[in-house]
Amino acid sequence: MSFPNPAASVKLVLLGEAAVGKSSLVLRFVLNDFQENKEPTIGAAFLTQKCTIGERTIKYEIWDTAGQERFASLAPMYYRNAQAALVVYDITKPASFIKARHWVKELHEQASKDITIALVGNKYDLVENDNDDNEESLRKVSIEEGQGLADEEGLLFFETSAKTAHNVNDVFIGIGSKIPDTS
Ligand code: GDP
Repeated sequence: MSFPNPAASVKLVLLGEAAVGKSSLVLRFVLNDFQENKEPTIGAAFLTQKCTIGERTIKYEIWDTAGQERFASLAPMYYRNAQAALVVYDITKPASFIKARHWVKELHEQASKDITIALVGNKYDLVENDNDDNEESLRKVSIEEGQGLADEEGLLFFETSAKTAHNVNDVFIGIGSKIPDTS
């Protein structure tokens, strides 16, 4: 008798400035839901979600920061044994992009050498109707800046919207495709 292999578990952490949409991206990916005025996550924020990529199924164990980034620097134990990380910024908030740079640096210094990192510019819905007229765009971080950082640091790069679901599944599929198959 043969048993199917259990799905390989992948620990994934989210990093990024408060309010960029980390919990919202998880909510979209896991429950396909969005809340407009979401209360900050308090307490435990651990969810699992299976993701099938071709022949392979990965079980993501997703650790959200539970709002700790508001109060203190995150303990390295949070990401030390993670196989994957999403570093999230808000494309309408330049300071959040600067913070994302710091997180990438910290991960490269402190996390596992073979961690797969995706840089995620969230809230794409706020700029998707931008056009070339005189109105000032809400976009404050260009695609080129995001892609540039990703290229420099060897990261996957996506612009997403947790609100409309734009590119959200692609982030998790993209990460899964880069994780070495150890089964
Ligand atoms: P976190 O602190 O990084 O986990 O951010 P949250 O997920 O709590 O989101 C902060 C706020 O941004 C909430 O009011 C969300 O509804 C909103 N938000 C999150 N993602 C998006 C998005 O893609 N588009 C827009 N317009 N708002 C978003």
